[in-house]
Amino acid sequence: LDPTNEHFSPEEIDVERKLRPLSFDDFTGQDQVLENLQVFVQAANGRNEALDHTLFHGPPGLGKTTLAHILAAELTVGIKVTSGPVLDKPGDLAGLLTNLEERDVLFIDEIHRLSPIVEEYLYSAMEDYKIDIMIESGPNARTVQINLNPFTLIGATTRSGLLTSPMRARFGIQSRLQYYNTELLTTIVQRSASILDVPISMEAAVEIAGRSRGTPRIANALLRRVRDFAQIKGTGNIDIKIAKFALEALNVDAHGLDEMDNKILSTIIDKFKGGPVGITTLATAVSESAETIEEVYEPFLIQQGFIMRTPRGREVTELAYKHLGKIKGGIQDS
Ligand code: ADP
Repeated sequence: LDPTNEHFSPEEIDVERKLRPLSFDDFTGQDQVLENLQVFVQAANGRNEALDHTLFHGPPGLGKTTLAHILAAELTVGIKVTSGPVLDKPGDLAGLLTNLEERDVLFIDEIHRLSPIVEEYLYSAMEDYKIDIMIESGPNARTVQINLNPFTLIGATTRSGLLTSPMRARFGIQSRLQYYNTELLTTIVQRSASILDVPISMEAAVEIAGRSRGTPRIANALLRRVRDFAQIKGTGNIDIKIAKFALEALNVDAHGLDEMDNKILSTIIDKFKGGPVGITTLATAVSESAETIEEVYEPFLIQQGFIMRTPRGREVTELAYKHLGKIKGGIQDS
């Protein structure tokens, strides 16, 4: 259930793909983003041009990769998928770029993690659809410029602030994805259950949705685990009883907070008297990078009202004390 998706097995990734919405109509939530994208796609299709380069930013699991695939489908073009850390040589990028057909999509996940030379190499490709490539070697080595087919680069990043400004400036379309509310996540859980062919009650779907940290990826992962419990310990159907039992057994917190979320809150309370505490100090105290706290954990904790950002640092709210069963002043509630 790690929202950064690093610990998913190949089977899980397969199921995830199966649950991925394939068209605009199939995609739930992010209405404003979707409405705009629909206009841009229609316009690009009408002119038979490549869609402008598009940047998606937002925490993991909210649908950036899904939207990249949907855009390619709605543009009726091909898509090539790679990621910042994988593309470590300009040569790899050149190989991808020269193989793009007209109007194709190149999707680069974690685009903020491109190496500076690869990033620089991308600039002329994005701007003029041209790249320089080195041919031959030794004394005959020279560069030639080649023209690329017009294409759309779609970048995804957990936070646009991590991107260099020249890179960011090259994206004509920039969309920020938001956490999903329980109602939207309920719809997503119901849709996934129907794809997985498992009957689920409304109440159970709401329960799973409410504990999913505002994140479709987590909602789907919880649904699959609850399905296992329903199959082995129940009748195969997911009702509220088996859902609650499973979520309890999985140690999922009532607000869907994960271990690190809770650790951040209890650290601010126990070690920093509830705050304010600076992000770097906090990061050291919980042994996580300041970047990850800012990108992955903090946005949700702020959105849910557990943390406030003040000019002097992060402060927990009453809600955080209540959630952890702690009392202000440091005496443990029993
Ligand atoms: P990101 O790239 O932002 O980390 P993904 O696009 O990989 O997130 O989404 C993770 C999973 O969540 C996908 O497999 C997809 O099934 C599901 N998902 C994401 N957004 C939605 C949505 N709006 N509706 C339904 N499922 C979604």
